[in-house]
Amino acid sequence: MARKIGSRYTVHQVIGRGSAGTVWLGEGPDGPVAVKLLREDLAADQVLVGRFVQERTALTSLDHPRVVGVRDMVVDGSDLALVMELVQGTDLRSRLERDGALPPQVAASVIADVADGLAAAHAAGIVHRDVKPENVLLDLAAAPGPGGAPRAKLTDFGVARLVDAPRRTRATRIIGTPDYLAPEIIEGLEPRAAVDIYALATVLYELLAGFTPFGGGHTGAVLRRHVTEQVPPIPGLPDGLWRIISECLAKAPASRLRAAELAARLREQLPSLAGLPVLAVPSQGRAPAEEQLSPGEAVYAEVDAGPGVHKRRRGPAVPLVPGAAPDSTRDTHTSLRRPSAEELAAYAAESRAQRAAPGHRRDRAALLRRRRMLAVLLATVLLLAGAAAAWTAFAAPEPGAGHPARPAVHSTAPRAP
Ligand code: ADP
Ligand code: MG
Repeated sequence: MARKIGSRYTVHQVIGRGSAGTVWLGEGPDGPVAVKLLREDLAADQVLVGRFVQERTALTSLDHPRVVGVRDMVVDGSDLALVMELVQGTDLRSRLERDGALPPQVAASVIADVADGLAAAHAAGIVHRDVKPENVLLDLAAAPGPGGAPRAKLTDFGVARLVDAPRRTRATRIIGTPDYLAPEIIEGLEPRAAVDIYALATVLYELLAGFTPFGGGHTGAVLRRHVTEQVPPIPGLPDGLWRIISECLAKAPASRLRAAELAARLREQLPSLAGLPVLAVPSQGRAPAEEQLSPGEAVYAEVDAGPGVHKRRRGPAVPLVPGAAPDSTRDTHTSLRRPSAEELAAYAAESRAQRAAPGHRRDRAALLRRRRMLAVLLATVLLLAGAAAAWTAFAAPEPGAGHPARPAVHSTAPRAP
């Protein structure tokens, strides 16, 4: 079944489904392409369409071998489509589900590739904001890298940002997948390049251990761990690789490596990682998602990938767009409300106005009067207590003063003669 997208592209068959839409195998003037047709509700959103057009230049000009190129963005009637370079292969999530954790050298090589792609994006001022295994495609048509590692490409640039349109309110929303969210996003700061580094180091951890460092259970618990918990060490992981991971998972964004540094540091490690087998890491025994979620909320997958490989936990699937039902059982996005700068300014103005209001001043005057009365009362009580104590001290009889003297050292026993 062929379908036309704009005047230049034809799509033939579905090759993937995601939270934002369906990916089709297509044909364009320059050969085969992948076309992501955004969901109808997203395509019908005028604000989103506006952003789509605005971001066109930034996204289509990001051209790097480790980034899945966006060739074109089409707005055609009710269709909103991203025309991409076609990658022959699979995504990193599917690979993890099929094979479990990867040997350290393969994991480091895949992540170094993605870090190269991020470095190019960051240099162009683009923050990805949704780095996760689902958005890393493995190009199986390309010659493999060190240790037979497939070449990796990062995809879905800017999609999180596009879909993150402030529609109903003027508030900004946090968009990302709970397991990969940097602590500063949870605390309400604007996402900068360092959030991608944190997410990518989380993916590296997951490739090595088979599970993410802070995942498992309810979304709220996952978010809290990002902010407060130390990264659980991976037993048997070579020191050099561990140092890179812990530097990139630093809570303070400024302490993390830059993308180009991360790629270089990982490549330095590659020779020493050659031949190391997959690490056998016991899972951490956090309560599985079902136990902590209300019915219908849990999406939980356990994959027992073979000997020495532990179970992988999945967090809840939260619809990308508020109100929409999750259309896949994969981890998707969580969306938390964060007040915008204008809103914060409005709160401040409101509380200033309240303080200045006549009612507020009257209340304050009454409060001061009450405080003054209380102070006077307290002073009076203290004064009276002091006077009483002084009187007791002066009026109390000294021993042997007011009473007939008693012989001090008289024994009642008759004295010996
Ligand atoms: P979403 O981000 O909306 O969840 P994805 O971008 O992950 O959706 O796409 C869903 C699936 O489609 C991917 O897992 C992948 O298998 C396939 N896919 C996406 N982009 C491409 C591409 N450029 N080339 C080949 N396959 C792709
Ligand atoms: Mg995706």
